[in-house]
Amino acid sequence: MNTTLHQPARLFSAACLVGGWLVVMLLLGGLLGCSQTAVPPPRTRDQIFAERLNLPALYLTAKTHKQVVAPGSKGLFVDEATGEVCWRALACRAPNCPGRGASGEPYLFTENDLSYFAKPDNSVGFDPKRAKQQPKQVDLCPKCNEILDPATETPTQGVQHSQWVQAYVLPESLARSQSLDAELRRRVTFDRQHQMQTTPVKGPPE
Ligand SMILES: [Zn+2]
Repeated sequence: MNTTLHQPARLFSAACLVGGWLVVMLLLGGLLGCSQTAVPPPRTRDQIFAERLNLPALYLTAKTHKQVVAPGSKGLFVDEATGEVCWRALACRAPNCPGRGASGEPYLFTENDLSYFAKPDNSVGFDPKRAKQQPKQVDLCPKCNEILDPATETPTQGVQHSQWVQAYVLPESLARSQSLDAELRRRVTFDRQHQMQTTPVKGPPE
């Protein structure tokens, strides 16, 4: 008689035990799932700016215009293979630029200040006397210079032309830069949210 009474109770407690484990497993699964999809906190503004400064950039050697990719913050440097000074690539986006490619791609060129030169130890030297050999130019773009006449060019036209010339940005660096913009916006929001929690620093006693 006791057996018939206890049987449903045992079944019930067994069901509770299985149900309890199921709940525990579901909670654990949920926590693990959350930790896998959680967005990491944004990096500091300094870290984001540092990455932006060092994104890969296109440089061209001064004479043969060989393309070299190096961090954007590198400044002037000597390409050891050619022994030439590397300058950041500039793009001319003037609609009538004669240097545009067959598909309309902008002409890439560099500034070439002759004051800067490659030294035998592959460092960059500077000698202002060398700049005297520099030919006078109306525009930064050498191809546009071929169709511009310095005698008839007005200062306003000169300014208009200079606005067509911009630093060339590699497509992959442009994409990365856009994701850094998004990260920076998240950082600004993060800082605002945590600003209220920070205690103001006390000054020295007066
Ligand atoms: Zn041009």
